[in-house]
Parts: sequence; structure tokens; C-alpha cells
Amino acid sequence: DTLVNQIAAGEVVERPASALKELMENSVDAGAHSINVELVAGGTRLIKVIDDGGGIERDDLPLALHRHATSKIHSFDDLTRVATLGFRGEGLASIASVSRLVLTSRFEGAQHAWRIEADHGGLNEPEPAALALGTTVEVHELYYQTPARRKFLKSDSTEFAHCEEAVKRLALAHPARQFTLSHNGRAQLRLLHGDLARRAAQLLGDEFVQTGVALDERAGPLRLWGIAGSPTLSKASRDAQYFFVNGRFVRDKVVQHALREAYRDVLHHDRHAAYCLFLELEPEGVDVNVHPTKIEVRFRESQAVYRFVLASLSKALAETRA
Ligand code: ADP
Ligand code: MG
Repeated sequence: DTLVNQIAAGEVVERPASALKELMENSVDAGAHSINVELVAGGTRLIKVIDDGGGIERDDLPLALHRHATSKIHSFDDLTRVATLGFRGEGLASIASVSRLVLTSRFEGAQHAWRIEADHGGLNEPEPAALALGTTVEVHELYYQTPARRKFLKSDSTEFAHCEEAVKRLALAHPARQFTLSHNGRAQLRLLHGDLARRAAQLLGDEFVQTGVALDERAGPLRLWGIAGSPTLSKASRDAQYFFVNGRFVRDKVVQHALREAYRDVLHHDRHAAYCLFLELEPEGVDVNVHPTKIEVRFRESQAVYRFVLASLSKALAETRA
């Protein structure tokens, strides 16, 4: 089973940022209001995610580290109607197969917390531990025992940049939750809970929010809302390109084509668009199982999605010129 896990790990855990993403998504799924991330050496030495979610019961701790032991799929239908972020039941098992993973959790109402350690797949028995609430996951020495993978990792600062980006994406999708990020003991991000405008101002800059257009358009089951960056944004703020489908960050050709088309008439040729937009549609309208890291999606009615995004955004951008 260890080998199977290590192969799966290669797909799911490309680098520290992908492990971090899996861990933070579990925290969101567990209903955490506060998610604190501590990294050492770009996440290669340590990725620690501390949440205040519902926690895991003692007897479920070993299960949580087993492949396909998700608690989130209860029927075949759930596969098409994925409500949660993580649902394949292989995130923790994959990470644990290529690191030393320590999982400490206090289930709501439990007398105390329990801790379990998985060292490259091998599990020990849960032991009593001290933790006030929620779950803390520590991933030590990612890929330490798989040098072939380890050599694909870039410098600590590059790996940290990817981790920071993963935090930004999740934090933009969940402005009502609090996030912190530290690297090598130094605070990097401290995001208090609020609304999208406040979160976007913290992460993408005041200029992006103040000059941007707020939009919220609906057509049938489709809704597009968020902030479309102004075509006149100064250079520094133009990197913001965040698009979410049903709460997940995605990069999709259909969407990108529509966005480019909408911006084409209002942008000067040397500029590119900035946006933080959320597309919502019925879960059956989008397949999120295309890729293990879930950054790609497939729309059932991609032409309808294309037309809707183009029309909604064009309308909003026209107001910036009016
Ligand atoms: P999946 O998220 O696809 O279910 P994972 O391997 O990521 O699979 O997690 C396995 C299980 O462990 C989850 O279904 C959940 O029950 C539990 N779990 C993992 N992380 C947390 C957390 N931070 N808080 C509460 N439960 C968690
Ligand atoms: Mg998961």
C-alpha cells in the first residue's frame, strides 16, 4: 500500500504548496473559523496547519490516514455533487507516505486531544495529547526519503512563494475565515475575518478594490460576482487574476477566453486584466474531477458559461467608461 500511496502522492503532492492546499482545504471542510499556517524552509522542513474546526475522534485518527477513507462521500451521487473541497480521501494518506506526519486533534466535547504519527506510511497507536481545540497537522521533511522527488523542489523562497499563493487563493475564497501565515518564525500574513472587499484590499491592494467594479449578475442557474479590476490599474496591481468556480480557484480556458474578450475593448494593448471573480453554478453543471489538484474543471454547458461570463463582465466594464 505504501508504493500505491507514493505514486498517488506524486500526483497530489507535487510540492509543499500542494500539501498545504490539501491540509487547509480539510480545515475549511471541518468548519474552521481560523486557520494558522507555519512553514519552515519553504515548507520542505515543516508545514504546520492549526485549525479550530470540529476535530477528529480518537478511533477515526488512523482511518483519516488511510487512502480512500474519506468521511465526505456517502453515496455515488456525492461524486457528482461535491459540496466539500476535498473528497477523494487520499490527501492525508498521500502526504503521510512521503513525510513524517503528525496529526493531533480534539474532537468537539472530548476530554482531551489525541495524537497519531505516521512515518512514511507506518502508523503508531493514538496517544493522549494536549490541544485546546480543533486539529493540528504537522508535515515534517517532505520527500526526505524520496530524493528523486525532492530534487524537483526549487529554492526555499520559491517554494514559500507557491505556499503563500495557495494561502491567498483560499483566503480570497473564504473572507469570513481568519488566516495567518508565518515563515521561519516570521509573520507574513495576518488576515482578519471580513468581507471580500476587505480581504481583497489586504491581499490585492487598496487600489484594486477602490478602482475596481463590483459586479453581481445572474442568469438562470449562473451567477458571477466579485470585483473586476479597472483597466487603468497601475502596474503593481495588475497581477491579481483570481477566478473561482463554486468556491474553488480554477484556471480554465473557456473562462479565460471570455475574460480576455470582455477586457479587450477597454484595455490598452500593453496591459492585462486583473480580477477576483466568483462563478457559481449548480454542482451538476461542472466536473471538478478532471485533475487531482483540482485547478482544472470541465463545464457541461461550456458555451453558455462562456456567453454568460462575457456578457456579465462586458456590462460591468462598460460602466467604468460611462
Ligand atoms: P478527504 O479530505 O478527501 O476526505 P483527506 O485524506 O484529506 O481526505 O482526509 C481524510 C479525512 O480526515 C477527512 O475526510 C476528515 O474526516 C479527516 N480530516 C482531515 N483533516 C481534518 C481536519 N483538519 N479537521 C477535521 N477532520 C479532518
Ligand atoms: Mg482532503
